[in-house]
Amino acid sequence: MWRPRPLRPRYDVVIIGAGVHGLASAYDLAKRGVWGVVVLDKSYLGAGASGRNTAIIRSNYRTPEGVAFYDESVKLYEGLSAELGYNVLFSQQGHLTLAHTDSAVNGLMVRAEINQLCGVDSRIIWRDEIKALVPALDCSDRPRYPVVAALYHPPGGIVRHDAVVWGYARAADRLGVGIHTFTEVTGIDVAQGRVTAVRTTQGDIQAGAVLNATAGFCSTIAKMVGLRLPITTHPLQALVTEPLTAFLDKVIVSANLHVYVSQTDRGECVIGSEIDPYTSYSHRSTLPFLESTAHHTLELFPCLRHVRVLRQWAGICDMTPDYSPIMGDVPGLRGFYLDVGWGTYGFKAGPVSGRRMAELIATGRTPELIKPFSITRFHDGRLLGEKAAAAVSH
Ligand SMILES: Cc1cc2nc3c(=O)[nH]c(=O)nc-3n(C[C@H](O)[C@H](O)[C@H](O)COP(=O)(O)OP(=O)(O)OC[C@H]3O[C@@H](n4cnc5c(N)ncnc54)[C@H](O)[C@@H]3O)c2cc1C
Repeated sequence: MWRPRPLRPRYDVVIIGAGVHGLASAYDLAKRGVWGVVVLDKSYLGAGASGRNTAIIRSNYRTPEGVAFYDESVKLYEGLSAELGYNVLFSQQGHLTLAHTDSAVNGLMVRAEINQLCGVDSRIIWRDEIKALVPALDCSDRPRYPVVAALYHPPGGIVRHDAVVWGYARAADRLGVGIHTFTEVTGIDVAQGRVTAVRTTQGDIQAGAVLNATAGFCSTIAKMVGLRLPITTHPLQALVTEPLTAFLDKVIVSANLHVYVSQTDRGECVIGSEIDPYTSYSHRSTLPFLESTAHHTLELFPCLRHVRVLRQWAGICDMTPDYSPIMGDVPGLRGFYLDVGWGTYGFKAGPVSGRRMAELIATGRTPELIKPFSITRFHDGRLLGEKAAAAVSH
């Protein structure tokens, strides 16, 4: 997949984190002709959330800034297999966010209008159309919270997450990027207001620029340069069932019931929920998650009642107060860049943030698309509230 190369004593750009964000940024930097790029990871490739997520791709967000940003990513995903020369199995099967209460319907209506104003295919549909699109979904009055309406987003879908990671790694390697797994960053040197070197378990590296793309661990890297991020890390869990005959060809999300379900091309149902309510770096899965998620799934799909769970797992998520990411440089600290705060929704953003972060690092100019996501928004009070569109929906 990628060639072993010796770790050099100096690189123009050191990227910490070999998830989709770090690898996409490395690929786009190399594509722009920036030589001397290395990606370091303390574990194996995709060991973080990039190898643990439920791979939902969509752009039906809540703020115009968020919609424009994620829309560019959906478009990049549409061409990603051809771009990387690697099939990432992107299936744009459509995405439904269900509403079970009047207030939820009102929230979805606001999102539908913002989506449409931004040119994104997204609209409210009612029970009859939902039933026709998803025959297996219980649209009767039987459940405690019957389905009332849904936000239907046809371009949304699922991708094969590890194929995306491997595809980026292979393409970056072909362009000369060094990829060093099991190489932990243990310190970062700063002199006269700029980063100068990265200390690792494999030796020290002089660095022209450093990109923090470590998601759930990003606060620990930021601390190495004396920066405190407005981020807390929470576990997020998911589970997968035994393979079933194809019965579901839409992604179904219910924020009211705190659950979402999709079926992979191998027939397994991938099911997730919202973050665990406590902060932790733990990657352990729990029984309460299994119980509550199974219970809520059966409210939507009673036909799954005899189905067995194959496995469950957890990843960790870097949550910001406004559920939007932090991208860009850091005032007063030259050469240090942030691509963090990806919470429960950052996999879909890999291609666009890779492209735009590479543009920033290569040119020194912040692209318009990512300007609103600067860390300065927390000082200026310009938060980008995406909780309504990002909490359970991923
Ligand atoms: C269960 C679950 C479901 C999710 N579902 C979705 C979804 O459906 N759609 C979506 O868009 N998003 C989803 N997400 C969120 C998404 O997975 C993440 O936001 C995204 O993958 C973050 O990618 P990344 O490249 O920034 O970080 P990661 O993939 O987490 O990579 C960070 C890397 O940094 C490395 N690292 C950490 N510290 C150091 C160090 N000191 N030195 C060297 N390396 C270090 C880690 O080993 C890790 O490999 C989900 C997440 C989880 C956990």
